[in-house]
Amino acid sequence: MQFAGKVALVTGASRGIGRAIAVALAAGGAEVFCTSTKEGGCADTLAAIAAATGGAGKATALVCDVGSAAGVDALAKTLLERSGKLDFLVNNAGITRDGLFLRMSEDDFDAVLATNLRGSFLVCKAFARAMAKARGGRIVNVGSVVGISGNAGQANYAASKAGLIGLSKSLAQEFAGRSITVNVVAPGFIETDMTSVLTPEVRTEMMKQIPLARFGKPEDVAQVVAFLCSDAASYVTGQTLVVDGGMTL
Ligand code: NAP
Repeated sequence: MQFAGKVALVTGASRGIGRAIAVALAAGGAEVFCTSTKEGGCADTLAAIAAATGGAGKATALVCDVGSAAGVDALAKTLLERSGKLDFLVNNAGITRDGLFLRMSEDDFDAVLATNLRGSFLVCKAFARAMAKARGGRIVNVGSVVGISGNAGQANYAASKAGLIGLSKSLAQEFAGRSITVNVVAPGFIETDMTSVLTPEVRTEMMKQIPLARFGKPEDVAQVVAFLCSDAASYVTGQTLVVDGGMTL
């Protein structure tokens, strides 16, 4: 129970990678706050945490759209009133609105930036003061390999995830003096709702590029996030850890 006594927030924890992160942190003994934009959205995640911890896990579901500054402030108020602190902040909420650049609308660009980058900025801002005051904590931002390599058809998404790396490196420098580490986990192709929309042809092409010859599971990402929250990673900050089965080698 390496996370006993720790409090964690995972945004976008209703399914996929966020759910696996919430389960991994709860299995380590952390009290976990899970968010979704929908009332009841995290019900299955709470059930998964209960199953993984034999009912011992402490988890709470909260509603928050990370695109709304007022919503994020309300989330911080509720969480800090209930727990008094936040040890691990995992910015996982993210969306895609793919399309080739010449056809990409301003709306599609703005929506992806608003959730993936501005949303992470808002959540960091809402909790940074409390974490700085506590003189410790971990921030893990869920990026993507396309934030490093770019990707045709994902100019908005790649820009948002590249921005997240810049944001994280800057916060790592600003908050190092308060013993807060800030890192990015950059997944490759992970089997979730987000990738389930891809055609069999695209999946076959992507598989050819993965030396480990399998798509990632949400748990593959969650274990790396848990590592970055653990004492073993206390000297790691400002880094981007790629979890892609070797896809971008
Ligand atoms: P997913 O299955 O589509 O889940 C996305 C999560 O984000 C849901 O819990 C959703 O919550 C939440 N969310 C969406 N918009 C939100 C908003 N405005 N405010 C708060 N929460 C919001 O996606 P996933 O595949 O697990 O991806 C999780 C993260 O990993 C994302 O940041 C994604 O970019 C990144 N990633 C995924 C892959 C992949 O291959 N799957 C690869 C690289 C990076 P509700 O819908 O319940 O509100």
